[in-house]
Amino acid sequence: MRYKETREQSAELLRMVLPLMARHSAGFHPLSYSVWYEYAAGFNPALRAAVDARLLQAPVLSDRDIEELFDAHVAMRDIDSSARMRAQIARMIDHVDGVAVDAGHEVQHYGNELDGYRDRLRDDSGKESVGQVVESLIGETTRVRVKTGIYHEHLKKSSEEVERLRGELELVQGLALTDPMTGLLNRRGFDYQMQRISHGSLRGCTLLIVDIDHFKAINDAHGHLLGDKVIVAVANVLRSCIGERGPIARIGGEEFAVLLSHTSSAGGVELAERIRAAVEHGKIRRADTEESIGNVTVSLGLATCGENEQFEAMNARADRALYQSKAAGRNRVTVAERASGAVA
Ligand code: GH3
Ligand code: MG
Ligand code: MG
Repeated sequence: MRYKETREQSAELLRMVLPLMARHSAGFHPLSYSVWYEYAAGFNPALRAAVDARLLQAPVLSDRDIEELFDAHVAMRDIDSSARMRAQIARMIDHVDGVAVDAGHEVQHYGNELDGYRDRLRDDSGKESVGQVVESLIGETTRVRVKTGIYHEHLKKSSEEVERLRGELELVQGLALTDPMTGLLNRRGFDYQMQRISHGSLRGCTLLIVDIDHFKAINDAHGHLLGDKVIVAVANVLRSCIGERGPIARIGGEEFAVLLSHTSSAGGVELAERIRAAVEHGKIRRADTEESIGNVTVSLGLATCGENEQFEAMNARADRALYQSKAAGRNRVTVAERASGAVA
């Protein structure tokens, strides 16, 4: 069962959840109850972080907010999949355990056999030639090698299976979709959202790709830790400029993507310029020396979805536009060439 609280604990949570629900504009439906229940109970840290991040942007959460939070952080932790996975992992541990015991017996047997060979070599009564002893030793060794090879294969398969299950578990827990450093979606989360949107339509959407300029030089001059802080600072600028206009993701080390719904090219440019200027003017200092690390800047590429254009094509255009921003000197916004087939 997903919820393990006692009746008393859940009654206490009920008392905490009702005022939380009342404070927001979303309805008093089961979705919103689950979100606030898990938030208050504190056993779903990814949800908690996502709710807190949203509250920073908008103090009142709407039905849409709740639905998105539910989809991303509650539904993903589907109880059936968790139970199924627990059973799969338990089965695998049994299997690996069996292999380990068999391998242990095999090795022990081999050890005993070797003792026997030692005795046979010491025996110089002429019953057996050294050649015969060596022959059978080789035979025994080959047998053990084949046997342990099979165990090795078993263990390799099991560890691959463990890896696969770990990925699935992360997906079920929603962890696979978020970037822990910034709390934004990661590339997988972004792709997941794009698949969902593409089933509807990208019409009227504008895609922004944002890349930090000369980031390698920042890392080299000030260290990786400060580099990470710069990434988080840029993520926060994006969050505060974009608000609820669409999903924001960290799609690479120092690269971000934002899909703006219902945003024309001109609207996108205005927002992109605001992001560019906010990063340029946001002073980031080293906490240890108070030394300014100089202006951090970003380059942006922007593409507005063409008629019937697929996400991949729009993404490629935005990428090319970003490349043009870099080539033209960085710290700028470039609008992609028009989608092929689009009329002027
Ligand atoms: P450009 O202006 O052309 O984008 O140059 P750049 O230096 O920003 O780009 P480049 O792709 O050459 O370097 C990106 C660097 O980002 C290289 C990599 O070590 C660093 N990086 C990637 N992920 C992380 C991260 O999570 N933390 C830190 N601190 N650095 C990262
Ligand atoms: Mg860069
Ligand atoms: Mg980059």
